[in-house]
Amino acid sequence: MPRSLNSGLYVHIPFCASICNYCNFTRSLFDPDLKRRYVDALVAEIREAPVRWPAFLERPEPDTLYFGGGTPSLLEPEEIARLIEAGRTSLGLRGESEVTLEANPETISVGRLRRFRGAGVNRLSFGVQSFRNQELGRLGRLHDAERAREVVGWAREAGFDNVSLDLMMWLPQQSVSQWLESVDELIALHPDHASLYLLEVYPNAPLRDDMARAGWSQAPDEDAAAMYEEAMTRTEVAGLEQYEISNVARPGKRARHNMKYWRDGDWLAFGCGAHSTLDEARWKNVTSTLDYLARVEAGDSVIAERRTLRPHDRLGEALFMGLRLTDGVDLRALGERYAVDVWAAYGPRLEPHLEAGLARKTGECLRLTRRGRLLANEVMAVFV
Ligand code: SF4
Repeated sequence: MPRSLNSGLYVHIPFCASICNYCNFTRSLFDPDLKRRYVDALVAEIREAPVRWPAFLERPEPDTLYFGGGTPSLLEPEEIARLIEAGRTSLGLRGESEVTLEANPETISVGRLRRFRGAGVNRLSFGVQSFRNQELGRLGRLHDAERAREVVGWAREAGFDNVSLDLMMWLPQQSVSQWLESVDELIALHPDHASLYLLEVYPNAPLRDDMARAGWSQAPDEDAAAMYEEAMTRTEVAGLEQYEISNVARPGKRARHNMKYWRDGDWLAFGCGAHSTLDEARWKNVTSTLDYLARVEAGDSVIAERRTLRPHDRLGEALFMGLRLTDGVDLRALGERYAVDVWAAYGPRLEPHLEAGLARKTGECLRLTRRGRLLANEVMAVFV
């Protein structure tokens, strides 16, 4: 069944001014010469895309472009403008698209924000993580809370009416009340959107060693649940409606780009480590920045892994991702798209979760309950 959802574009910028101790993203230390080569390589990869992926041009044009990282705000506004232009001319990126730039507070000034706005960026996503300096220090972040407060005002001054803030909860040594101080500070800044994540300490993250050395620990699981629940309550009271497990927004300000991931959409992704999905194909670019540059400069493919998604795989993923949304999933629409009776395929394994109050089925709509969002992995295991 043809997809009616517009597609999206993602551009990965791997550079960071320093490396945070918990980071698990594809990133490397900023180097101006490497960055210049990298932007040229991205433009070349975007320009080549219509030849490599002609099927992409047959679907509704992309209406989102997301610069993620790493730290995309380390690029110059003129470089961002070149990449937006490449998306427009080569892949039909629509004029009224949502163009998001992830930004770290320490890389930003009012002047730079004005130039990013002039370059065509219309949405900012600031990696704030905490409004408590001690917590920012434990994570190895370069900015302080004062700077995080300032940049939101600068963004408004520069003409941005769509600003998102990221916060992380369950930080080392963080109590529930300390976390809620950050949530209250976020609310006081009136963002249009916020992402509230639980910190995950990966096995090989330097933070794990830092925690062991300093004797830091994370609060018990029940405190993590209380952090999550109370944050969602406070943001909702402040007019930021929860629309996804980790995301809240004012009316009309849901992240249009991320909806491609949650609503079974297609997107092309450029740069090192970037993942694309188009119909039954899913592929990942090489992770190393240098390998990526060498391949683009030699005119070789940058794909490291490619797999074909069977309809069953894609349906399972559509359910898995769609259930993250508070609106839930439309079983009939997905059933028509994949020519499957979704309830016949998954109903028997979902029933116990409905009985336990973790999910609810109303007509053809399946959604997680508030309690189910806390235990989402248990329900979603049905689809993997
Ligand atoms: S700024 Fe973000 S991408 Fe860069 S090292 Fe820190 S967490 Fe990782």
